[in-house]
Amino acid sequence: MTRKYNFSAGPAGLPDEVLQQAKEELLDWQGKGLSIMEMSHRSKEFISVAETAEQDLRELMGIGADYKVLFLQGGATSQFSMIPINLLRGKGAADYIDTGIWSGKAIKEAGRFCDVKVVASSKGNGYRAIPQQNELTLNPDAAYLHYTPNETIGGLEYDYIPESGDVPLVADLSSSILSRPLDVNKFGLIYAGAQKNIGPAGLTVVVVREELLGDVVPGMPTMFDYKVHADADSMSNTPPTFGWYLAGLVFKWLKEQGGVSAIAEINQRKQEKLYAAIDASDFYANPMAKANRSWMNVPFTLADDALDGLFLEKAEEAGLLNLKGHRSVGGMRASIYNAVPETAVDALIDFMKQFEKLHA
Ligand SMILES: *Cc1c(COP(=O)(O)O)cnc(C)c1O
Repeated sequence: MTRKYNFSAGPAGLPDEVLQQAKEELLDWQGKGLSIMEMSHRSKEFISVAETAEQDLRELMGIGADYKVLFLQGGATSQFSMIPINLLRGKGAADYIDTGIWSGKAIKEAGRFCDVKVVASSKGNGYRAIPQQNELTLNPDAAYLHYTPNETIGGLEYDYIPESGDVPLVADLSSSILSRPLDVNKFGLIYAGAQKNIGPAGLTVVVVREELLGDVVPGMPTMFDYKVHADADSMSNTPPTFGWYLAGLVFKWLKEQGGVSAIAEINQRKQEKLYAAIDASDFYANPMAKANRSWMNVPFTLADDALDGLFLEKAEEAGLLNLKGHRSVGGMRASIYNAVPETAVDALIDFMKQFEKLHA
């Protein structure tokens, strides 16, 4: 069996070492005679797995004691509603920055609960550049300011953290969490679906400043109240135990790599060489403003889109999987999350050069 290079946008590749360990202990977790999947979430064994995962994430991201870390279900998309439900706290309006498809979905959902003020948008530049701080017309009475640090589909990433004053800052980090160091203290809440940089689909991580909890929109489902989850250590009902366990293995793996700053150096090199290869050629192109090119998701087009199908077919033959761009964008997209090794990017660049030579 050979594992191929996987450039999937999500669910994305996991580190080989993590899958290997999960395989080794799948039937018999640490000599207990059963799988971690088959254990009660209230067993002392699972609770220790859960607590260790949380501790490791806190250590990796530098999360302080004034934050709760929640391991939830429902995907990042459920957070699009949970955020207004929990963070409006009696206010009627929230600020959002529009930079592409994911922020657009968050805006649409929040509109069901409050008056959404889009304080800046990349629409005018075709979603190719992030609005600057001085372009944000912030509303001092907003309950919070929401933004999407990395737009996974467009391949557009902030090169700064918006300054929101006393208004809590909320970030959808689904596709960029743990990819480089981040000062968590600047945020009221961050969230991420696990299936890009953390683990398998089915788990959603929320890190929230504890003082923001406890004032939900009345009449909402119990399971949409962060405080219910925080008070029960995310075990108010059965949590996604296997995903939580695998996330814990990924956090351990990341610590072994040297932590977030060490992986960030590799991530920086990976994206730099891939964009350099695209820019050096007349055959491939990426239209994003250079300062806002995503480190994790690198979309690119071929000079002749009639060659797209052949490119994907030959890439797959070369062991380079899932390079097809999002259906709304077309072209190609190489997602190069933490678990995608630098050798995968090198192999992709070699393949691209080869393909260009044969077909340009
Ligand atoms: C993938 C993604 C989502 C959606 O995540 P689900 O877990 O499928 O709900 C939301 N926001 C961003 C930035 C994403 O990359």
